[in-house]
Amino acid sequence: MEYSAAYALRYVGNMIDSHCHLDLPAFEHDLNGVLKRAREAGISGFLIPGTTPAGWEMQLAIQARRSDIFLAFGIHPWFIRGSLDDAVSKLQKAVTEHRKSVCAIGEIGLDATIELPLAEQEKWLLAQMDVAKQCELPVVLHHLKTHHRLPAMIKQAGFSCGGVVHAFSGNAQVAAQYVDLGFKLGAGGTITYPRGKKTLDALVKAGLDNILLETDSPDMPVQGFQGQRNEPARLVQIAQVLAEAFGVSVAEVTKKTTANFRDLFAQA
Ligand SMILES: [Zn+2]
Repeated sequence: MEYSAAYALRYVGNMIDSHCHLDLPAFEHDLNGVLKRAREAGISGFLIPGTTPAGWEMQLAIQARRSDIFLAFGIHPWFIRGSLDDAVSKLQKAVTEHRKSVCAIGEIGLDATIELPLAEQEKWLLAQMDVAKQCELPVVLHHLKTHHRLPAMIKQAGFSCGGVVHAFSGNAQVAAQYVDLGFKLGAGGTITYPRGKKTLDALVKAGLDNILLETDSPDMPVQGFQGQRNEPARLVQIAQVLAEAFGVSVAEVTKKTTANFRDLFAQA
């Protein structure tokens, strides 16, 4: 049967890792084992965000014959190279060609900790949001010390297809700004540490209806696994922290966050 993300979405029931970079070399040698461990832990869906045009090919290869893998295509701010026009036409072409396999544009965004000036990053962000708008796809947003710009950019772009603020960290006021713009908040490893208390409180205020689960594998290890490669099976620990903070069961966190994932990406 022909693969389509919309078809697969109807059949995923359990927890979904909405952000894992399974196409990176860190998983090259044991991806099957990583996926097996995750499935045994109750994770039944994986979204691999894009970082570079070469990576999109790798993502497609991983998705082939696996019905629980979802893809986003985009150029990550860390990997901005060469001409913006060329990159955008590559992105447009890839998304059109693989429309059934792609459920979002991303990972795109703004990062104030890298050398590339924000003004240049903003051009790439706007251009890629424009592709998302044309294709009516949500976006996967990367942020690092850029909450002062991102909501304004979403407004400036007149972007209304929604998306997820991946690895959300910030206070309740910042969280509310994104929710008001139609965005979900990605809850990741940060909240498993005491230093993530402010973010956890912000997520609780935002409510379970606005949260997606994510590991950001191979990065952002959860507490107890510092210095190790992160992997999707650890998503359970993040769900447990949320369950405790909300005073509900892990099953309830799973049900809500998976429904949120479906709502956001089902238009694919
Ligand atoms: Zn990422």
